[in-house]
Amino acid sequence: MQGCCEYCGARAVNADHVVPRSVYKRLSRGVLARREMTIRKQPPSWLKDTVGACFDCNMAKASRLLIPRSWAHRLEELNSLGIGTFRVWAGDAALLRVMCK
Ligand SMILES: [Zn+2]
Repeated sequence: MQGCCEYCGARAVNADHVVPRSVYKRLSRGVLARREMTIRKQPPSWLKDTVGACFDCNMAKASRLLIPRSWAHRLEELNSLGIGTFRVWAGDAALLRVMCK
């Protein structure tokens, strides 16, 4: 893995699935489609994309619905999928604490 962590800018060592694989699998099987009438087609293929991430961000993010700033333009579409509320995350612990209270 080359380049920088898409979240915090440190050296990237992992490929992070921005949308957790378990979430993508549920989406593509249409499990969420019954609940969310707006999903009538296969989810967009970019939901499977990975970004570079440093070890700390990769572990801290885990399966949370957090996206890097480079994905901010997709935030509205992600939130329309009925998965939950995605947030733009810059690798800061403060946001994680708020989400974990
Ligand atoms: Zn990072």
